[in-house]
Amino acid sequence: MDAAEFRRRGKEMVDFVADYQENIEHRRVYPDVEPGYLRSMIPSEAPLEPESYEDVLRDVDRVIMPGVTHWLSPHFYAYYANSTSFPSILADLLSSGIGTIGFTWAANPACSELETVMLDWLGKMLQLPEDFLSETQGQGGGVIEGTASEATLMALLSARLKTVKCVQESDPQRSEADIISKLIAYTSEEAHSSVEKASIIGGVVIRMVPTDEHFSVRAETLEKMVAEDKATGFIPFFFCATLGTTPCCAFDKIDELGPICNAENIWMHIDAAYAGCAFICPEFRPLLNGVERLQLQLRLPASKTDREAHEAIDESRSNFLRQIGFDCSAMWVKKSADLTRAFQMDPEYLKHENQGSGLVKDYMHWGIPMARRFRSLKLWFVFRMYGLSGLQAFIRKHVELAKTFEILVRDDNNFEICAEVVMGLVCFRLKGSDELNKALLKQITRTGKIYLVPCRLRGRFVLRFVVCGRTTELRHIQEAWKHITELSSKLLQNLFD
Ligand code: PLP
Repeated sequence: MDAAEFRRRGKEMVDFVADYQENIEHRRVYPDVEPGYLRSMIPSEAPLEPESYEDVLRDVDRVIMPGVTHWLSPHFYAYYANSTSFPSILADLLSSGIGTIGFTWAANPACSELETVMLDWLGKMLQLPEDFLSETQGQGGGVIEGTASEATLMALLSARLKTVKCVQESDPQRSEADIISKLIAYTSEEAHSSVEKASIIGGVVIRMVPTDEHFSVRAETLEKMVAEDKATGFIPFFFCATLGTTPCCAFDKIDELGPICNAENIWMHIDAAYAGCAFICPEFRPLLNGVERLQLQLRLPASKTDREAHEAIDESRSNFLRQIGFDCSAMWVKKSADLTRAFQMDPEYLKHENQGSGLVKDYMHWGIPMARRFRSLKLWFVFRMYGLSGLQAFIRKHVELAKTFEILVRDDNNFEICAEVVMGLVCFRLKGSDELNKALLKQITRTGKIYLVPCRLRGRFVLRFVVCGRTTELRHIQEAWKHITELSSKLLQNLFD
């Protein structure tokens, strides 16, 4: 394909994507295919000779589309989806078109510098304390990680290394292996599985902290667990709080948890993969309030190891600001050296003359991979084309639609709401057994008109309804509810027949 053909095909592809998105609501949201469906539709080996573009595109329709779950459909209410946007898609096209890899400032100055400024823009939209911003020339700053899982892992590994060093400062004879075997991390019993996975990769013990009646971790509970563990020789070193848990969008009380982490020299990471974006709205910003309190307390503890309590915020995964397409997970730290020094490798071929000047950032030291795409372009395009007011309006609309769905559920005596509806997620179930609810979800998935996934809350099987689509309107919510009640009526009728 030469540039002339790319020009033509590129325009066709843009049309293809625009048509796809414009007509997506007429597609079955959940595909009707059996496992292994694809293998039989394509050859078992790559072609020896080149094929035509027409053939490839034809197979997109024939092979790919039947097996696609349409995440951008207004009938998609599963997971915490990302609605992306046309500006974000165009920015990704530009990023691929430039084809640059920005691991150091020298590898692509624009990539490094735009990322720094965009994370400051975003940090200001979230009213993060200045410590988290790069422009203040302090110790903090933001970075784009690929996913929330990566961000949590990075924070945990950095905290692990920092703790090992601190313990060895006061006890040089102690081996790294011995210290690591005593490290203990904490997270909510409601936290995303990626936190436990990070602890497995990091080779440390993790304890799940029980939550209160609102599914939130409270200070008292964490404090007690930390005291117990210290008494038996463990070294508490990492706590991952969640703002907006995956099962039911609960919020840990970071304003009361932060001071404990500070006092105990525990690195506190906040996972706000879903809910973080809503903090750009003043009405939701109070949920992040502990961040300011921590700022004041950050240097307070005079610990025996003289270690500074730390804090990292991971505001997102793909869906940070829902208009920004996967993969773009913003993370801020108050002391970036804890990340960058933890895993800094410095081979000759990556050195450049501005390195270490304090004027530039080499983001390869801020994450696990070295190579990085030009992801900040997505932020730049979307921020400029929506404006803060447009981004806020988008979030408010989702919350409003979720509240409408909540009212529909509450008005129906057969159903119950299972957790407070704070943002775009409604947790609900049919009054009755888990089996009944499983049967309802099975029917919903089988018919493929809408797509939901379940969760467990206090051991009960619950349905999650997440309003996340860019094109989701009131009529879709009403249609979805009508569909759910029709299916449930049939189920209930069968039960009593
Ligand atoms: N944390 C929370 C609260 C989530 O809801 C999710 C996914 O939904 C994750 C972490 C994992 O995100 P990622 O796929 O970006 O690693």
